[in-house]
Amino acid sequence: MGCWKDISQAAKTCRNHCPYCFLSLHVDDKIPGDRKTDCGWKMYPIAYEIKNWQLKICFQCKKCWKNHRNKRADDDEVEKLDMYIKKHKENLY
Ligand SMILES: [Zn+2]
Ligand SMILES: [Zn+2]
Repeated sequence: MGCWKDISQAAKTCRNHCPYCFLSLHVDDKIPGDRKTDCGWKMYPIAYEIKNWQLKICFQCKKCWKNHRNKRADDDEVEKLDMYIKKHKENLY
């Protein structure tokens, strides 16, 4: 389980994920920020990539298995991202 510290606050911006544990909510359908799905389930970080110096995090929904990519935010604790991706793969959070 994630910490849920800031997820309600984070959900007000175009970011859906928690800056501390990277847990996210499945609220967007096709376009990040469109808020067009009713799923609302938890999304976990499964991978990341760096393109044009920008870090993008890939999230997967635990209910419908849909993948989403989202930009990191400035206050994300990205140094912990690797750890959380591993944790998720081992089903520890
Ligand atoms: Zn959190
Ligand atoms: Zn979903």
